[in-house]
This record gives sequence, C-alpha cells and structure tokens, in this order.
Amino acid sequence: MEGEAVCFFHPSNRAALPCDSCGRFICTICDLKVGSRHLCPTCLGNGLGKQKLPEIIPRRFLWSSASLWLGLLPLVAIIFTWPVLIMTGASTIIITLVGWNRPGSIVRGRRHWAAVVGLLLGLAQLGLVFGIFSLFTSMRTR
Ligand SMILES: [Zn+2]
Ligand SMILES: [Zn+2]
Repeated sequence: MEGEAVCFFHPSNRAALPCDSCGRFICTICDLKVGSRHLCPTCLGNGLGKQKLPEIIPRRFLWSSASLWLGLLPLVAIIFTWPVLIMTGASTIIITLVGWNRPGSIVRGRRHWAAVVGLLLGLAQLGLVFGIFSLFTSMRTR
C-alpha cells in the first residue's frame, strides 16, 4: 500500500479524493457531495450541526415547505371557497336556464357561446365541489 492513500474511515479502502473541508482522504463511500464540494461524514455532520453549510439548509427547507404549501393551499382554498363555488355555480346555471328562452337576453347571436360557456363553467364549479366532497367521504370510510 506504499504511496497509495487509504480512506480515513475505511483503512481497507483506497482513497478516492480528499475532503474539501479537513483534507482527510476519503473513499467513494465516504464522499458526500454537497453542491460543488466533497465532504467527509464528519465534516458534513459538523456543518449540519453548526449550520456552517448554508447551501444545505435553505435548499432543504425551501423544497419541503414549498411542497407542503403547494399540497395544502388548494385544500385550504377549497375549504374556504366551496360555499362560494356552490352559490356562483348554481346561480350561473339558473341565470343561463332562465335567460335561455327569453328573446333579446343572453341567448342571441354572438352571445350564445357566452351562455353555453357560462353554463359549463357553472357545472364545472359544482362538479369540482362534489368531486372533492366525494373524495373526502371515500377517504374517511376507508
Ligand atoms: Zn472532512
Ligand atoms: Zn471510507
């Protein structure tokens, strides 16, 4: 083994590269890549403990909180807006159906598509609310 560096943690393993922080030789098992730096397990542990590695913590924090909020926000929004969705959805359908046969109202020439789109959107709002409710109830019964 003369002239060949061995891993600080595994004397039987050949060293692959030195730690960027303490300079100890480490093998490929011990090589922990942090951004562009190669650290040994000890330095990574120290860095996490003393928060000397700002490139680890904010990134991890941001990703986890971003996924949490992205998963949570639509549910929170639905909890607060579903009564509004039922009201707007129902009134859209009612207004469309009431105005459908009235000459000179919304169903006329160019505006015909607006009534159809409005009806579809109203149905979509109600469908969204009922879909989410059936999802919640089916999850609860399981
Ligand atoms: Zn090190
Ligand atoms: Zn090693």
